[in-house]
Amino acid sequence: MMSELLSLPYMQQFKCIADKCEDTCCQHWQVRIDKAHYQHMLDWVAENPSEKTIFSKAVLLNKSNVASDKSYAYIQMDENGYCPYLNTQQQCSLHIKKGIEILSDICAFYPRIITEKNSLLELSGALSCPEVVRLCLSADINSHVMLSSDNAILPQREDIPVHRTLITDDNSPVYEIYFEKVQQTFIDIARMVDCDYFTRLYILASYSHSISTIYFDNCVSLDSDALENYRVHIFDPDYKQSVSHFMSQYENDQPLACIVIYSVLLLKQQQAPEEKLSKIVDEVFNDYAQQLGFSSSKDIKNAADYANVFQKRYQMFSNSVHQQVEDYLAKYLLNCFYREWHITMPSAFIYIQMLLVRVAIIRFIIYSRILPGMTTEQIKDIAVEVIYQFARAVDHNLPFLQIVYEALNEQQMLHFDYSTPLIKF
Ligand code: SF4
Repeated sequence: MMSELLSLPYMQQFKCIADKCEDTCCQHWQVRIDKAHYQHMLDWVAENPSEKTIFSKAVLLNKSNVASDKSYAYIQMDENGYCPYLNTQQQCSLHIKKGIEILSDICAFYPRIITEKNSLLELSGALSCPEVVRLCLSADINSHVMLSSDNAILPQREDIPVHRTLITDDNSPVYEIYFEKVQQTFIDIARMVDCDYFTRLYILASYSHSISTIYFDNCVSLDSDALENYRVHIFDPDYKQSVSHFMSQYENDQPLACIVIYSVLLLKQQQAPEEKLSKIVDEVFNDYAQQLGFSSSKDIKNAADYANVFQKRYQMFSNSVHQQVEDYLAKYLLNCFYREWHITMPSAFIYIQMLLVRVAIIRFIIYSRILPGMTTEQIKDIAVEVIYQFARAVDHNLPFLQIVYEALNEQQMLHFDYSTPLIKF
């Protein structure tokens, strides 16, 4: 019997907008096909010889020595990075001809992300889909909670592909036993609507840093009262007020955030110049170069110069624009907390510090793309584009995130001293 399903309300509304979508789901991706669906396709092709040519070109067996039943075969994208099964309206012709049952788990469920925690399934959404981003940014922040849901909203009720599973008992690692408690605290902080955005981020960094002295990967015991005390402390109104005061007074005179942002984006551009995020970043950097009196971003020798241009741009916008952008960034964080699990990192603080870098990059690009006088809808369109392109190029690119992690670690930047300059710049 299927476990009970919880879902973010905006994912209950999700419907693929197909030919109205500004992108395709799978360009440049390696789409894995599980063994059962590969066999299903083989059977269908055997009955339909006209499908043989495209099948033998598009569907290849995974010969890697780490291949498993889940990654038994894969779709070979064409020279432009598109799936050969896409028709001229950018719709999946396999889906149209044969329905959902022939699609691999990845294709059938994308952009739904299912995680399992102690027999409860949770449905969240991948921000690499622009329609999910639109729904996520449009939903009231108070509705970013998991609610009981009818499993009829899933593409199928059996053989549900689960992204991550956590089943704990008294013998489980301590890091896993307390995962849900810490995850819920992160969610509650991101939804502290009585605090401004910078205050919430500082509390996230401070809380995760504090607990990381007693709660980390491979810790063998944990004083649960101490963990609870850290949680109680951050909801204390006096504490929130003192952080809010500190953040309002904090003047960031170091270009550190912009240097980190510039370095990560440059690396991304060098690795994948064909990606849309790289093209957006190219436009941003060239625009900044022009404002600095250079003809191209290649002439800028000091990454700190970007910080000056960014500051001037940032100050051009009204409070209502800042509130709109910050509301979007808080919703991005909430999506991450539901979908990603900090126990995949050595400590909750390292997870948060990496997240601060990611959200700083998104904030930098959004402010670099919007213009004074734009309507709230235009700003939302830009935020949607930036977030889904960022999710495709960075959030879902684990090898790239690993490189960023190693670089930050080598520079000793996974340290609380660097959190505040990354938050407010
Ligand atoms: S990216 Fe999202 S909305 Fe667009 S085609 Fe894919 S699933 Fe549908």
